[in-house]
Amino acid sequence: MNILLLGSGGREHALAWKLAQSPACTRLYAAPGNPGIAEEAELVALDATDHGAVIAFCEAHEIGLVVIGPEAPLVDGLSDALREAGVPVFGPSQAAAQLEGSKGFTKDLCARAGIPTAGYVRTSSLEEARAALARFAAPYVLKADGLAAGKGVVIAATLEEAEAALADMFGGAFGGAGAQVVIEEFMQGEEASFFALTDGTTIVPFGSAQDHKRVGDGDVGPNTGGMGAYSPAPVLTPELQARVMAEIIEPTVRTMREDGNPYQGVLFAGLMLTADGPKLIEYNARFGDPECQVLMMRLESDLVTLMLACAKGTLAGVEVALSSETALTVVMAAKGYPGTPEKGGAIDLNDTEANSAKIFHAGTALKDGALVANGGRVLNVTAMGRNVTEAQRIAYEAVDRISFPTGFCRRDIGWREVAREAS
Ligand code: ATP
Repeated sequence: MNILLLGSGGREHALAWKLAQSPACTRLYAAPGNPGIAEEAELVALDATDHGAVIAFCEAHEIGLVVIGPEAPLVDGLSDALREAGVPVFGPSQAAAQLEGSKGFTKDLCARAGIPTAGYVRTSSLEEARAALARFAAPYVLKADGLAAGKGVVIAATLEEAEAALADMFGGAFGGAGAQVVIEEFMQGEEASFFALTDGTTIVPFGSAQDHKRVGDGDVGPNTGGMGAYSPAPVLTPELQARVMAEIIEPTVRTMREDGNPYQGVLFAGLMLTADGPKLIEYNARFGDPECQVLMMRLESDLVTLMLACAKGTLAGVEVALSSETALTVVMAAKGYPGTPEKGGAIDLNDTEANSAKIFHAGTALKDGALVANGGRVLNVTAMGRNVTEAQRIAYEAVDRISFPTGFCRRDIGWREVAREAS
């Protein structure tokens, strides 16, 4: 079968690597891709916002499965257009992708279905929002309703900061995404991520992970798209995973189906492990980046079979087999990230992959045949080990073999678990 993969990050390189391994995959196309993805797929120039062009490509190349990596095309309704044209697609409909695309939508669904999450107020009025602050205590959690590339959340330490942030949001700091805001109760605990595949009815767990959002060692500095991750996250014990399935994932999938918006694809739950049990922070309608890279390293099942089963509603009886080993990825970013990253810096991978780590490309490009940095997050250096400590050691040995003078990385990916494993 011919497959089309959309996206250009480390997540999509990991997906391409796994899709290309499948005996079911005849030809793999990717748009726009990157130099790492080009080793697995034929890159094609296609604009994912031009639904007609994507459908025409699928018809011309007999595409049997489209895999949508990032969230924007989902929220933009590309899956719906493909389904209408009869092309199987891995990724939820526009209505179902509201679980990621509208924080208020998800909070309202949680309230109706009794799903544990932070108490909240949703409003599109600045006056109401300011008045609602009185119902919460510091720190105040304020969220622009729509997609804001991970920047739409403000945790304000004082009432003054919260009021200023609300004024910014309603003043257009996040464009249309901030026309509505959600104010939430602050939850205390450790964060973890849980993934499940679903065809709208059947749900199959796809493992756990923890990422590292802040740019600096020790979780300091500004937020990023993610500086590293590992899977599994032992803090999400089998007992807690069973609770997450029963109390959060199952009621969500059931409610979406009953509402006439069946969710098909991967459901990525951001969780807070509170003293009262796991609570939902947010949903994403796609794999995380860099969580996808560690999940794909551990995946032993055939990815094409899993994705097709989600797309076609045939997930019943299908299982996800994951290695019991730990995978850990370190993100190498270009200096300046998450602000303005330095572009064009030379990279020499020095045959690092020959030494047991896998390198997924994110923001890379080829210039006169040589690899250079071309974005904020540039490489994902990924390794497997018996535990987090071993995977971390192997990953950093690989990082140290790579020459990337204008790059940097955190040196402590996995620190929480490494400390627990040492105690
Ligand atoms: P992402 O980039 O993860 O998609 P996002 O912009 O969609 O982020 P959230 O995941 O909802 O936003 O929030 C970002 C971060 O803010 C969370 O990872 C968590 O650390 C913190 N956070 C969000 N909501 C709460 C809450 N109610 N209590 C405590 N911390 C919270």
